[in-house]
Amino acid sequence: MFLETRNLTKKFGGLTAVNAVDFSIEKGKINAIIGPNGAGKSTFFNLISGFHPPTSGSIIFKGQDITKLPSNKIAELGIARTFQSTNLFEQSTVLDNVIVGHRLRTKSNLLDAVFRSKRLKREEEKCREKAFEVLGFAGLEKVADKLVGSLTQEEKKRTAFALALATDPEIVFLDEPAAGVNPDETEGLAQLMKKMADQGITVCLIEHKMQMIMKLADKIMVLNYGEKIAEGNAEEIRNDPLVIKAYLGG
Ligand code: ADP
Ligand code: MG
Repeated sequence: MFLETRNLTKKFGGLTAVNAVDFSIEKGKINAIIGPNGAGKSTFFNLISGFHPPTSGSIIFKGQDITKLPSNKIAELGIARTFQSTNLFEQSTVLDNVIVGHRLRTKSNLLDAVFRSKRLKREEEKCREKAFEVLGFAGLEKVADKLVGSLTQEEKKRTAFALALATDPEIVFLDEPAAGVNPDETEGLAQLMKKMADQGITVCLIEHKMQMIMKLADKIMVLNYGEKIAEGNAEEIRNDPLVIKAYLGG
C-alpha cells in the first residue's frame, strides 16, 4: 500500500481525537475524509504530516515507517499538505508566496544565506522556474504578480495548492480545500484536484461539500468522534446506516 495508518491514535489529555484508525491510500487515487466538526479529521492530517506525534499506532509510507519523523523530514519524502485556514502572506504577491514556501521547504541553511554563492543563485533560479510551473498548473499565471490579499477565495485556495505542489510531492493532503468558495469555483477546484491525480499525484482531502466528494473521490473514509465508522466508494458511503445516523444525529 502507498500510504497506510495502523491503529493510529491521538489523545489530547482525556480526549481521544483520533481513535485506532486504520486507513490505506492507493497511489494516484483521490481519497476523502468526511465527518462532523470535531471528528478528528484535521488531527488525522496533523499526525500524518508530523505536526503532532501520535499517542500510539503507526504511519507507513511506501513501506517505510514514518511515525516518528519530524514534519520537515516527512515533507522531504514527498508528503505535502495545506491547512484549513490558508497560511499565506496576504501582503506579498502570489509568486513570492510560492517562492518563499518553496525555499522554506527545501533545505537552505543559514550558511547559504550568509555566503551567497553561485550555487545559491542557480537554486534561486530553479526555485523561480518551479514557481512559474506550478502557478501555470494551478491556473494562476495571470495573477502571479497580484497581492494575495486582493485575490478571490478560490484564487487563495489555488495558491495554497501551488505552494504544496512546489515541492514536487507524491501525495498532497488538502484540509477543506473548497471551504468558503461558491459552487462554480468549487467545480474549478475539483477539476484541479482531478488534474493532480491524473498526473499521478495522490490526493487526500477533507471536505464538507458532499456533492463534490461523491463525484470526485475514489475512496471515502468517515470519521465520527475520532473513530472510523465507514469507508468505501460514494455509493457505499451514501447507503451506510452508520453514516446516515452520524449525519442526521440519530
Ligand atoms: P475536525 O477537523 O474533524 O473538525 P479536529 O481534528 O480539528 O476535528 O479536532 C478533533 C478534536 O480534537 C476536537 O475535539 C478538538 O477540540 C480536539 N483538538 C484538536 N487539536 C487539539 C489540540 N492541539 N489540543 C487539544 N485538543 C485538540
Ligand atoms: Mg478540521
